[in-house]
Amino acid sequence: MFATSLSPLSVDSSRIRPKIQALQPMLVELRRRLHQRPELGFREHLTAELVSQKLQEWGIEHETGIANTGIVATITGNKPGKVLAIRADMDALPIQEENDVPYRSQHDGVMHACGHDGHAAIALSTAYYLSEHRDDFAGTVKIIFQPAEEGPGGAKPMIEAGVLQNPQVDGIIGLHLWNNLPLGTVGVRTGALMAATEGFRCTIQGKGGHGAIPHQTVDSILVSAHIVTALQTIVARNVSPLESAVVTVGELHAGKALNVIADTAFLTGTVRYFNPVLGELIPQRIEQIIAGICQSHGATYQLDYKRLYPPVINDAKMAELVRSVAEGVVETPIGIVPECQTMGGEDMSFFLQAVPGCYFFLGSANVEKELAYPHHHPRFNFDETALEMGVEIFVRCVEIFCRVED
Ligand code: MN
Repeated sequence: MFATSLSPLSVDSSRIRPKIQALQPMLVELRRRLHQRPELGFREHLTAELVSQKLQEWGIEHETGIANTGIVATITGNKPGKVLAIRADMDALPIQEENDVPYRSQHDGVMHACGHDGHAAIALSTAYYLSEHRDDFAGTVKIIFQPAEEGPGGAKPMIEAGVLQNPQVDGIIGLHLWNNLPLGTVGVRTGALMAATEGFRCTIQGKGGHGAIPHQTVDSILVSAHIVTALQTIVARNVSPLESAVVTVGELHAGKALNVIADTAFLTGTVRYFNPVLGELIPQRIEQIIAGICQSHGATYQLDYKRLYPPVINDAKMAELVRSVAEGVVETPIGIVPECQTMGGEDMSFFLQAVPGCYFFLGSANVEKELAYPHHHPRFNFDETALEMGVEIFVRCVEIFCRVED
């Protein structure tokens, strides 16, 4: 069942665990310091400064200023081996925090409401642990701290800046703290984990006029209503029922008065899917529907379709590595949740397109402690016990993946 090159059971958890548990106070301190000073995408200056300062203090080689605020730390083990990258994101969201905690956000209107403060703390502590235990692993580990995951996306510019080269990365892993799963579980699966994220904006041009004299007009609201309804037939009648996809119209603006027929309407929407084949079909059908309905009503349109992030697709071997390691960390087979897919998106997908890898969810909700609000909620917070589990999974993946066996 396991790939033969991966033998997770040979990594002794009783040896690693106490040392990683000893990092927990540092993990919590780092996470809370980051939480207090959240920054939006490509503006993670204080965050990058803290990351760099810590790496410096621990004597870890690193490069700063990649794609604005990104950082890559490189840690080499005591013998030759493969190169594994570990990816963390650092950006926060434009949300006013409503948590009443001593470490609440000090930046008005900005909040770590997705757990990226935890991701950066886990990655930083993993770097520290590995740098202190170079005898315990082979090969090289690159720890990538990327900006702007919440948009417009820091992964792609970091790849373009060459972070996966010199030395060439053989595999990549990353995690997302996940309040859809309870603490003590890990969501990991082969193949699609998260959806492609795409969006469209469309202006419908009709012909305005008197609300009581409709025959002299082209009603952009009526045209839009037909479009909104018909767009739902894409998922219902064009996408195979065995595939997952979403077409959501999120905005529709038109009109100013009850007795005036609106000459223009404006709508926007988001498109999600797992199977890359749908990346051709769905935008094509959107345009056909808009064009056909406009033509039949005498309206014109302007459509702007944007591809943001591709789907997050895990490599089978890398997913098996993470799954087998995580099983030892959460120590219960029911702790592994393969049914964890979401139509949410992530720019980890660009890394996974470039090298085989695995992105996974680290359960972080704790209902008893009221730490179960959803991501992007003003009261989002997570159980910090998950932090040490994240480090342990990363370290054990390094020890297994990077060693070279014959
Ligand atoms: Mn996130």
